[in-house]
Amino acid sequence: MKIAIVGTGYVGLVSAVCFAEKGSRVICVDNNEEKIKQLNKGIMPIYENDLEDMLNKNKCSKRLEFTTDLEYAVQKSDIIIIAVGTPMLPNGHADLSQVESVTENIAKFMNEYKIIVNKSTVPVGTQKKVIKLIRDNQINEYDFDVVSNPEFLREGTAIYDTMHGDRIVIGTDNERARKIMTKLYANFNQSIILTSPENAEMIKYAANAFLATKISFINEIANICEIVGADVQEIAKIIGMDKRISPEFLSAGIGFGGACFPKDTKALIKFTEGFGYDFKIVKSVIEVNENQKTKPIEKLTNALSCVKGRTIGILGLAFKPNTDDTRESPAITIINDIQKLGGKIKAYDPIVKDIDKIKFDNIEYVDTAYDAVKDVDAVILVTEWDEFKQLDLKKVIKLMKGNIFIDGRNIYKYTKMFKLGYEYYCIGKKDSQYYKKSR
Ligand code: NAD
Repeated sequence: MKIAIVGTGYVGLVSAVCFAEKGSRVICVDNNEEKIKQLNKGIMPIYENDLEDMLNKNKCSKRLEFTTDLEYAVQKSDIIIIAVGTPMLPNGHADLSQVESVTENIAKFMNEYKIIVNKSTVPVGTQKKVIKLIRDNQINEYDFDVVSNPEFLREGTAIYDTMHGDRIVIGTDNERARKIMTKLYANFNQSIILTSPENAEMIKYAANAFLATKISFINEIANICEIVGADVQEIAKIIGMDKRISPEFLSAGIGFGGACFPKDTKALIKFTEGFGYDFKIVKSVIEVNENQKTKPIEKLTNALSCVKGRTIGILGLAFKPNTDDTRESPAITIINDIQKLGGKIKAYDPIVKDIDKIKFDNIEYVDTAYDAVKDVDAVILVTEWDEFKQLDLKKVIKLMKGNIFIDGRNIYKYTKMFKLGYEYYCIGKKDSQYYKKSR
């Protein structure tokens, strides 16, 4: 099939590569000229496992091309997928301006029947708004259908998720669109759920709000575990054995970040407020998450009587492993708080090197994890990269000036850390102080 994908970000680019891999001819459009120039040279604008190889392979096979020319892409394609950003407005609502502007232009450039698919995360009712926008902006009255097709990929495993997802949700009331969309996804061998546009739009927000709720729930359990001396990892493992609960999304830590959960939970609250509904659970989920991001600083200030003038090593800047995405990363809150307290920062992330992505001055970005811990008073582990799980912890403590280690992702065993001489703090467990007292 001939597809145009508008927006070559984490969702658009990955979807484009996967559709091309499955045999469709895909034209990727972005209004960021630099990004398109890079993509045409085979340079990846984002970090995602397996993306580069698959992209270059499909580019060579002429199934994938990159352009800033939306008119060309619309006119050469049967299906136009919108995958632009829907960031959060200052008032918490989803900003639909990118979706709206792309829709208006698609309408102007249409030259025959088209299916317009919305993959961006949008509030319920957006499919209807897109239909109206197309009608209002068409130059000639061509027939068209608008489908809601929310995306569930996870950054870090985005290619795998697209190729092996749990389900594909197609929201349309129209039989012709239903048939074409089912054909488009036929060789993905995944469950195809045909539903109404409103259901499809709501499913995406409900899924993200539920997953965010699971994270905040286990983080609250972790906070209680610290008070009562229980171990959240043990609790999560055992409650996760119950099929009704499942072990996924039960890792206690320092809160969720990224481009989706923070903005989508807020958008859901704002959207439902518009109907006079007070979404209490999701409000608490956000409040718990904001509080959780402050846990490393709480532990740091308890351990170090004064942060001013001290150097703190930060391991990990991305909001989660295997991505370069720092949007809403807990690292931002942590670095901000340390700097406010007068501390100095040495930071290392295996992928995030671009200083502009985290907007702070006075951070010493270093090239290895060992450089980040050298001569520091304390270390805070922010992102659960595999590389950090394999660190030589004897070497780390020798390189450090102090011995305080705050593990925001519970990747080490506190008994081992204590034996090595660390003053070790983690999330939702007896920390080293407690361990010392209880021995
Ligand atoms: P992104 O910011 O990485 O990418 C958006 C792209 O759209 C950018 O490259 C931008 O230049 C381009 N763009 C903006 N306006 C444009 C225009 N007028 N014409 C052409 N291109 C334009 O965003 P993303 O993370 O890929 O997310 C896209 C959508 O998918 C959002 O609604 C998001 O909520 C949703 N989503 C994201 C994820 C994720 O993990 N990132 C997962 C599921 C759903």
